[in-house]
Amino acid sequence: MSLEGGCACGAIRYKLSASPLIVHACHCRDCQRLTGGPFVINIWIEKRFVEADHAAPRSSRLTGGSGHPHDVYFCGDCGTTLWSRYARAGDCLFVRAGTLDNPEAVKPDVHIFIRTKLPWLSLPPGALAYPSMYTLDEVWSAESKERLRQNASSG
Ligand SMILES: [Zn+2]
Ligand SMILES: [Zn+2]
Repeated sequence: MSLEGGCACGAIRYKLSASPLIVHACHCRDCQRLTGGPFVINIWIEKRFVEADHAAPRSSRLTGGSGHPHDVYFCGDCGTTLWSRYARAGDCLFVRAGTLDNPEAVKPDVHIFIRTKLPWLSLPPGALAYPSMYTLDEVWSAESKERLRQNASSG
């Protein structure tokens, strides 16, 4: 699978050279504020599989709901947020699926923080959903867990 995307003005382009570890729809207040929408769609993937000029985006440091740093990377020209990095998620990025050229190529594996889901939004029947975060062991595929282990030990 080759997933490509970029910011609204085209100054920053990227290509994902592996499939997502997992795709989150996050309905937390921070993601609602940052996107201006009801939730964000994040592709959780190792940074080494995000092919881009990583010096190009600007970043701002926020404090995540957990109290740990959350760095948000965006185009300095048009302001489109491309990905985030959470201090506790190792050398991984959370790529905004809405910046893909073909965003229909991915769909959420799990909806998180639905305790703050906007009340008019209904999730698809049978969608996997958690009030806040889940534990990786109960949701992730064996393959993704193994990839994360390898990433942690190599980085
Ligand atoms: Zn741009
Ligand atoms: Zn969130």
